[in-house]
Amino acid sequence: MEFDNVMDCIFCKIIEGELPCHKIYEDKRIIAFLDINPINKGHLLVVPKEHHLNILDTPIDLLKDMIAVVQKMAFLVIEAVGAKGFNLSVSNGKEAGQMVDHLHFHIIPRFTRDNLHLWSGKALSDDEMKHVAENIKKMMTQ
Ligand code: AMP
Ligand code: ZN
Repeated sequence: MEFDNVMDCIFCKIIEGELPCHKIYEDKRIIAFLDINPINKGHLLVVPKEHHLNILDTPIDLLKDMIAVVQKMAFLVIEAVGAKGFNLSVSNGKEAGQMVDHLHFHIIPRFTRDNLHLWSGKALSDDEMKHVAENIKKMMTQ
């Protein structure tokens, strides 16, 4: 758990009601609100009330509760904004683009020809792929 900067955490402040948000949903452990800088209409964030940095330091039972809320919110927002699909995204770490150090799942509604190109592919040789796969599997047995 990362408690170092809870005092400065913008999402903790939203959860405590010290900062405003467009709240969509709240239960004992989780809150969902609109992203202030939406990538598409209806872009929302599902956030645990407990301060955890990212997926790696969040208890599995909380993650399970979060994914259940993600599914519920995705059904609702798709219907509400007339989307055709959605991207679910979580940035874990600065290198992954994480700006707010409090775990959050992005639900980004998608529309036909909305011109978003979130990822591009990278070519890896078959040898490199094999090497990566073997290293990961090795870690699993340790
Ligand atoms: P990430 O890069 O995954 O850490 O994304 C952080 C997200 O939080 C960005 O999409 C921001 O637009 C969003 N955000 C930052 N401050 C607020 C706020 N006060 N209310 C709602 N969303 C916010
Ligand atoms: Zn926080």
